[in-house]
Amino acid sequence: MKYNRLGRSGVKVSELSFGSWVTFHNQLNIKDVMETMSIAYDKGVNFFDNAEVYANGKSEEVMGEALKKLAWPRVKYLVSTKFYWGISEGPNEKNTLNRKYLLQAMENSLRRFQLDYIDLIYCHRPDPHTPLEETVWAMHDLIHRGHALYWGTSEWSADEIRAAYMIAEKHHLHKPIVEQPQYNLFHRHRVEIEYQRLYEDLGIGLTTWSPLASGLLSGKYLKQIPENTRAQMKSMTWLREDINNENKRNQIQSFCDLATELNVSPSQLAITWCMRNNNVSTVILGASNQQQLNENLKSLDHKDLLTTEILERIDKLFA
Ligand code: NDP
Repeated sequence: MKYNRLGRSGVKVSELSFGSWVTFHNQLNIKDVMETMSIAYDKGVNFFDNAEVYANGKSEEVMGEALKKLAWPRVKYLVSTKFYWGISEGPNEKNTLNRKYLLQAMENSLRRFQLDYIDLIYCHRPDPHTPLEETVWAMHDLIHRGHALYWGTSEWSADEIRAAYMIAEKHHLHKPIVEQPQYNLFHRHRVEIEYQRLYEDLGIGLTTWSPLASGLLSGKYLKQIPENTRAQMKSMTWLREDINNENKRNQIQSFCDLATELNVSPSQLAITWCMRNNNVSTVILGASNQQQLNENLKSLDHKDLLTTEILERIDKLFA
């Protein structure tokens, strides 16, 4: 496993990491969580991604419980959480990045995780209604209080990230060091075009999500929607729309053919493709069972596959 600096910050993250969205608490119980986290950790994964809103706080609880039982030295791993949507009703508890919400949400997260601090905290989405200055000060204060070590954003525009950075610079506050965007063969624009200047100008690092586009790029939906998959979940209407999209189906079929030719699984090829981007500090994997996680972690063995010729062929497929 290679460890990359998270942007220009000093902290290092494993090039593959493991996230809990959809899976922890819903598909994986405490035993499964401990087993999958151990598989990842034993392979060198040092970053575990989470969010307040995942399984309504239960994902933080189960990850915290697993970490307590696993008893790894705290210096060996990083955990994250993210704030914005909230998990309780009230004018200052939902869809906001105001100071009141952020300070309270942080305390609640720490309690659920049973940790003294969280390594990375993210503003899960931009909040157009709270002055950016208020949010930047609150994130700074959470670090200043020792509740978190670093902060960043998720799915903010390049302009919003730059504005937040400039406010922090002006007031000598802790700056955002990381953005968490979607990045896979269907979602390239932000990471490859929109954010381009942020890497050099501000030293922003990336922890990218959904390398398989929620499982689509594994090719498993080409024939049917198998039992116990994400696409079967009620809330995943958008995924079923993608599955039925003729153009995407053709792209995925050709991508699977290419993977077969290269003697790797489509999932491994899709993950390796994300890892090849030097601006990506870590690719956050998702898995609903051990077999998937083992398969996905094996992408580490296939980094040499992506020659210029193969990359050009992939570009053509997804043009
Ligand atoms: P992926 O796109 O890799 O999708 C993961 C899902 O695909 C698994 O849960 C599983 O679903 C299926 N899958 C995984 N591996 C395989 C395989 N080898 N073969 C077949 N199916 C497979 O990643 P996620 O969408 O889960 O995103 C990863 C992480 O990124 C999240 O856990 C979260 O931490 C973070 N994230 C952040 C967001 C943000 O807004 N900041 C948004 C979304 C995610 P199943 O078996 O159920 O079909």
